[in-house]
Amino acid sequence: MISSQNTTAYIGLGANLGNTEATLHHAVDQIRSLPGIEQLQLSPLYRTAPIDSSGPDYLNAVARIQTSLTAHQLLSALQNIELAHGRLRPYRNAPRTLDLDVLLFGTEHIHDAILTVPHPRMHERAFVLRPLYDLAPDLSLEQGVLQMLLQQCSDQAIHRVP
Ligand code: ATP
Ligand code: CA
Ligand code: CA
Repeated sequence: MISSQNTTAYIGLGANLGNTEATLHHAVDQIRSLPGIEQLQLSPLYRTAPIDSSGPDYLNAVARIQTSLTAHQLLSALQNIELAHGRLRPYRNAPRTLDLDVLLFGTEHIHDAILTVPHPRMHERAFVLRPLYDLAPDLSLEQGVLQMLLQQCSDQAIHRVP
């Protein structure tokens, strides 16, 4: 079911295999052209070391969208874009060509077999919090304001891509 009202949602983007910058820009174009996506604003890109993962450094960003899709419709569309970029899931936290996570979906709280929103680990990840802060510096998560949460993960190396 497509709801008539637009929701502000945040999507986390990450890639650490292949031409990561080209992949992220292509994925953003694909998200922008999805039916039911009204607007998209992209944060700066950040280079980060893998956490609980392996392989080359990641390129990460966050996109804010206005959407008439439901959260599940959005996740499903994002998973199709991941697949189009050759995403495989050989094991947990494996290196990946493209990872698209639903971080926040309006004020919705969802916890079912396929989707948990707000994303349960976003508050402890600098690679999510830093680009999110660029888009929405005044945003608060349940765990606290972004600035404070960022301070708590100041040991995680993150560099803005010029
Ligand atoms: P993490 O969730 O810690 O960032 P990951 O992105 O590597 O790990 P994936 O292998 O990409 O994990 O996804 C595993 C499953 O997580 C997906 O099949 C999807 O159904 C589920 N999932 C639950 N909540 C979300 C969410 N908010 N965004 C994206 N996927 C989610
Ligand atoms: Ca992820
Ligand atoms: Ca994911």
